[in-house]
Amino acid sequence: MKSDVVIVGGGISGLSLAFYTAKAGFKTTLLEKNDTPGGSFNSHRYSADGSQFWLELGAHTCYNSYQNLLDIVDACHISDTIIPREKVPFTLLVDSQLKSVFSALNVFEALKSIPNIFTLKKEGLSVREYYSKIVGVNNYNNTLSHFFNAVPSQPTDDFPADMMFKSREKRKEVLKNYTFTDGLQSVAKAVAKSKGINVFTGQEVTGIELLDGRYAITTKAGVTHSAATLALATPSAVSSRLLQTIEADIARHLGTLKAASVDSVGVVVKKEDISVKPVAAIISPNDIFFSAVSRDTVPDDRYRGFAFHFKPGESGETKMKRITDVLGIREDTIIHKHEVVNTVPSLRVGHKQWLEKMNGMLEGKNLLLTGNYFGGMAIEDCVSRSLSESKRLKR
Ligand SMILES: Cc1cc2nc3c(=O)[nH]c(=O)nc-3n(C[C@H](O)[C@H](O)[C@H](O)COP(=O)(O)OP(=O)(O)OC[C@H]3O[C@@H](n4cnc5c(N)ncnc54)[C@H](O)[C@@H]3O)c2cc1C
Repeated sequence: MKSDVVIVGGGISGLSLAFYTAKAGFKTTLLEKNDTPGGSFNSHRYSADGSQFWLELGAHTCYNSYQNLLDIVDACHISDTIIPREKVPFTLLVDSQLKSVFSALNVFEALKSIPNIFTLKKEGLSVREYYSKIVGVNNYNNTLSHFFNAVPSQPTDDFPADMMFKSREKRKEVLKNYTFTDGLQSVAKAVAKSKGINVFTGQEVTGIELLDGRYAITTKAGVTHSAATLALATPSAVSSRLLQTIEADIARHLGTLKAASVDSVGVVVKKEDISVKPVAAIISPNDIFFSAVSRDTVPDDRYRGFAFHFKPGESGETKMKRITDVLGIREDTIIHKHEVVNTVPSLRVGHKQWLEKMNGMLEGKNLLLTGNYFGGMAIEDCVSRSLSESKRLKR
């Protein structure tokens, strides 16, 4: 099968790149390993007794600062499905009690440290170095670090401070934070249906060759796609492996990046079977899970759902015991369970130099690289990277 561009990986990075290349008039094919596009941006669906319920097992919130994403949402005509998230608290689980994150802070220490926010620059500092000066060492160690670890579901002490939370221009007429009536996957589905994009799901790419100046991309099922331009939108380790024989230097540079697996378990229970107060998320310091993100932000008449993001390596039995203990429910009241493993980058101070070197290596090549390991792991970072790569293709 011949295309102008073949994109490997159908998460938001691959999908947004497909949106831009198709819009620029390139015949675009996207190959995704899973049965549905979306990757970590994929709302899991449960249906029973004629009703539908969705639960986010990966990304759950978008913001009005996600301008490039919002442009795509507008272009796909789904802005009218944007809905607000209910204001329910982020909570800390301490001694089996749920507390608000802010009530756990030592106000005196925070007030003493907060003026540093006006003088201290994030650039070149790790999350620990920066935020322990902004809220105080004890507040950071006892409270804030656990909240930060819950964001990429891994220890974030050594993350670059300027890549954790970014301030961006906002679209003031859009809700500050939001989701979609049908979950975030609505965007993935809408982009996949856009004109000029052929999406093939259930297609794991296993090999890439360069034949007569064109890329030959082969899937596990033995189908070969041919394209003038190749784009990889898979986790860095997968992209590194796929490029090993055709771009050894780039593969090696990609291979220096670290990433973490997030072992997520989503559970659905009937409302009457659980008494935990509505929460946005439960963060449990030093536990086997980083966070349990709830669907209470978009309340449902019949069901409640929780996505527990575990550290890798725990047995199914251990995870289930922790879920039932934290939620105070019996296992037989869980009417639906679904598990996924997502990959998130483990960024380190100095990442900008890594990125500069990578961009230099890509210059002049018909090879595009996008993903959540370039400018940051937020949805908008992924879309922004795809936008800049699509501009490189046009050049
Ligand atoms: C638990 C969790 C919560 C998050 N919450 C938020 C949030 O609220 N807001 C926010 O902005 N960001 C959030 N993020 C971050 C954000 O969701 C991710 O960084 C982003 O979705 C990653 O998109 P991606 O396309 O780069 O990668 P992925 O979503 O990982 O997509 C990569 C795709 O490549 C496919 N693939 C892999 N190998 C192959 C192969 N060989 N052949 C074909 N396909 C392949 C995979 O199946 C996958 O679909 C969260 C992430 C996680 C894990």
